Amino acid sequence: MVEPAPLPRPAGGPITSQLNRQAPDYLRGLNPEQKDAVMTTEGPLLVLAGAGTGKTRVLTTRIAHILNQRMAWGSQILAVTFTNKAASEMKKRIHEFVPNFEGLPWMGTFHSVSARILRSHAELVDLKPQFTILDTDDQIRLIKQLLAADNIDEKRWPARQFANMLDGWKNRGWLPKDVPASESGYFANGKGGQLYYDYQARLKTLNATDFGDLLLECIRLFRENPEVLAEYHRKFKYMLVDEYQDSNTAQYLWLRLLAQGKPAPEANICVVGDDDQSIYGWRGAEVDNILRFEKDFPGAKVIKLERNYRSTANILKAASTLIAFNEDRLGKTLHTDIAEAGEPISFTQVYDSEEEARTVGEEIEQYQRAGEPLNSMAILVRASFQMRELEERFITLGLNYRVVGGPRFYERKEIRDALAYLRLVAQPADDLAFERIINVPKRGLGDSTVKTLLETARHQNVPLLSATRMLIETEELKPKQRTTLRGLVDQFDNWAYRSENLAPYQLVEQILEESGYMDMLAADKSAESQGRKENLKELSRSMEEFESLGGFLEHISLVMDRDSAEASDAVTIMTLHSAKGLEFNTVFLTGWEEGTFPSQRSMDENGRAGLEEERRLAYVGITRGRKRVRISAAQNRRIHGLWQSAMPSRFVDELPPDAVTVTDRGSAYGGYGYGGGATSRFNKADPFESLYETPGWQRARANQANRKGGGPMTIEGELVARSVDLGGQSSGYAVGERVFHLKFGYGDVKNVEGNKLTIDFEKAGMKKVLESFVQKS
Ligand code: ATP
Ligand code: MG
Repeated sequence: MVEPAPLPRPAGGPITSQLNRQAPDYLRGLNPEQKDAVMTTEGPLLVLAGAGTGKTRVLTTRIAHILNQRMAWGSQILAVTFTNKAASEMKKRIHEFVPNFEGLPWMGTFHSVSARILRSHAELVDLKPQFTILDTDDQIRLIKQLLAADNIDEKRWPARQFANMLDGWKNRGWLPKDVPASESGYFANGKGGQLYYDYQARLKTLNATDFGDLLLECIRLFRENPEVLAEYHRKFKYMLVDEYQDSNTAQYLWLRLLAQGKPAPEANICVVGDDDQSIYGWRGAEVDNILRFEKDFPGAKVIKLERNYRSTANILKAASTLIAFNEDRLGKTLHTDIAEAGEPISFTQVYDSEEEARTVGEEIEQYQRAGEPLNSMAILVRASFQMRELEERFITLGLNYRVVGGPRFYERKEIRDALAYLRLVAQPADDLAFERIINVPKRGLGDSTVKTLLETARHQNVPLLSATRMLIETEELKPKQRTTLRGLVDQFDNWAYRSENLAPYQLVEQILEESGYMDMLAADKSAESQGRKENLKELSRSMEEFESLGGFLEHISLVMDRDSAEASDAVTIMTLHSAKGLEFNTVFLTGWEEGTFPSQRSMDENGRAGLEEERRLAYVGITRGRKRVRISAAQNRRIHGLWQSAMPSRFVDELPPDAVTVTDRGSAYGGYGYGGGATSRFNKADPFESLYETPGWQRARANQANRKGGGPMTIEGELVARSVDLGGQSSGYAVGERVFHLKFGYGDVKNVEGNKLTIDFEKAGMKKVLESFVQKS
């Protein structure tokens, strides 16, 4: 490929002197450090700075500058962004600054750029240029075939588990020969290493790569073919990377190879990042890459940006105070460029997650009435299962919303699968549903069986389920398939019979168990499978209010229908992970409860490092807000099918009190709230009475009466007992017990006198408080 040579630089000395004469528009308004970063085009440069300090803006402006000064063509700039969407937004911006913008073909994610490189040299890595990129499902199918061929018991050694190991190895830049036996030896009794070889060989025969290979094969290409690498050294005059803190080892190696065109101290590589926003450790990101930059590129210039242009002082203070609780960080100062302190961060405790959705909906409508566009508001959640109630609420309110970074709740695969089962129970002629689930989970009913079923159905002009009934009485199918299908038909008959008497939410739980769907997820060790399980629990929860399956399915079809209308002005719902780099006037951060956020799982699996990554995620969340950050926590949440009283997240306690106002929405519904944080949460004479007045309570009681005959040991009974405990039962604290107080945070009980407790708070010191103000920790 022949690249055009860069245009000659304008005559008349260094570029800077030209600029002084006619400072281009795009440089105006930059602070001196930003300007320095933009103008330092030659040699390695690291911009290490906090959220909202203009790192991405510096990158964009720097590219505009390089183009405007004709230091390189667009095709000679390699720019790596976090998402393809970010790339297209940056291009748009650059276009505004550059009159004859001819595009930036090498701007994209690590993966998209790698795929492009690989396609040009496919034959050198034993591929053909039109190779396929496998998704996770294909990858798993392939591994299963390999396991079967090797007589490895998939029940013991699940394909998903191997897929995850593979991913980890590839993120670390390991080819099959590089994987130490200590890493691979354990899988399938020592066969893990060989499996990796076999897997790669199989990919080649399929003319395919997986995601990890895109980078890894590129690295191999460069290492084994110096002349190809040299071609890219000549091509890329400038390299820029955004969000460098989240690069993994393979990405790091890839970049280093590309940057070696010049001796390290002269490499034109600019990386920007923030160690406090490293949130992909679980996917192999190495925050150390950013710390190692100065070592890899001796003489690198390091620029720190400290002025934040995004958020108000209160938001910034909250974020800085919170992140300072992390021990593992470089530490930096941030000050705002925005004059007013702005609204304090609000923390609202609500009764349950449904009330949380209602509250968020109401506030969004208020802001909308005050003239704020929906586009400027976002709700950021820790886990995708938290989205469902918000989505439903918005649909009820007629509020436009979009889910970013994933399908909407009812469009997710596992939800659609579960719905297909339910549809077929309610409507045996629903052939689409039948086709969807016939082999999910896998039942050994391959394409040829399905084909026979379809032919029979068409021929007899009956639905698939009826065709199946006919076929199992014949010899058309192999005995094994017949037995399986008979079992399935019996199950459907049985479910249909039970659907008359069971509450829909119980029915779905039983179907998912009995069909083997939950087993399938349990065997699946990938990160997504946990989310899938949570989503399914959320589905059954969403069905609790429906008495009949028909009623629920009717509701769903309406919800799905509404879903399809994408609106241009819409509230964004997304996970904290996908919100990186973005900004919104108003940000709602929901579900700030211990266990949900910080996620119990990540703390269990990774201890303090896990907690610190969660805290960085909280920092990312808060710093997305420009004007307003509204945090909420539910006092009761259903986790794993049980109502649990939830403690507010420890992160709430870590916010600076003078930048936060605390509200309890419970007060709006009968006064168990504590009126703006100033008065007692439980200042009514009878806390029980106030609980009875909350809608959640009424619903729980109604459910209890309707469904379970009011027995005290029911799930709803659990809610009752725990809520009362939460709401001010006035005995049962012991010296030494750990408690949480909404204003003072965590502490240990030192003395008990009637209903007064003396508590040694971690931060507030020794205080005497009424016991109804504290919760058990
Ligand atoms: P993050 O760490 O969240 O990715 P960032 O450091 O990349 O943040 P940007 O997104 O580049 O920050 O900038 C944050 C906001 O501040 C943007 O709206 C940007 O346009 C604005 N901004 C940056 N620099 C300036 C400046 N010098 N003058 C005015 N606004 C600025
Ligand atoms: Mg950015």
